[in-house]
Amino acid sequence: MAASFLLEVVTPNRLVLSQEVEEITAPGVEGEFGVLPGHTPFFTTLRVGEVMYRAGKEQRYMAVTWGFVEVLPDRVTILAEAAELEDEIDVERATRAKERAEERLKHLSPEDEEFYSSMGALQRAINRLTVASRRR
Ligand code: ATP
Repeated sequence: MAASFLLEVVTPNRLVLSQEVEEITAPGVEGEFGVLPGHTPFFTTLRVGEVMYRAGKEQRYMAVTWGFVEVLPDRVTILAEAAELEDEIDVERATRAKERAEERLKHLSPEDEEFYSSMGALQRAINRLTVASRRR
């Protein structure tokens, strides 16, 4: 069996990553899952979270915002609304987004329409800050 597989991550704007890797973990809606070469094919939905990808000893991370993943024995394709590699994340921007969302949420309750969009913005910002903190 091959020792690696191709990981491709695509958003509506760009190809974020196309790289041979040996392992990934990803945030499925039903929980985090791992993929090694030769995995049984499956298709699932991704929530906001971090994708870890490893080539050799090098383990890297990216932030993903909702999407789909198709797993095949020799290839994993992630189609995400947005995705940023560790080094691409603008920490100041994510910090501002987090503060904005927290400020809005102070005045909102679950009955308000804006509550869930603000929770979503907060979740995206916290996820980006978590992934950025992985930088070495
Ligand atoms: P913001 O309020 O700062 O725009 P957002 O969560 O609403 O944050 P998204 O709608 O998820 O942003 O993403 C819009 C675009 O901006 C995407 O291309 C995404 O990759 C990029 N993006 C968002 N936040 C950051 C960030 N902190 N660093 C780098 N790129 C970002």
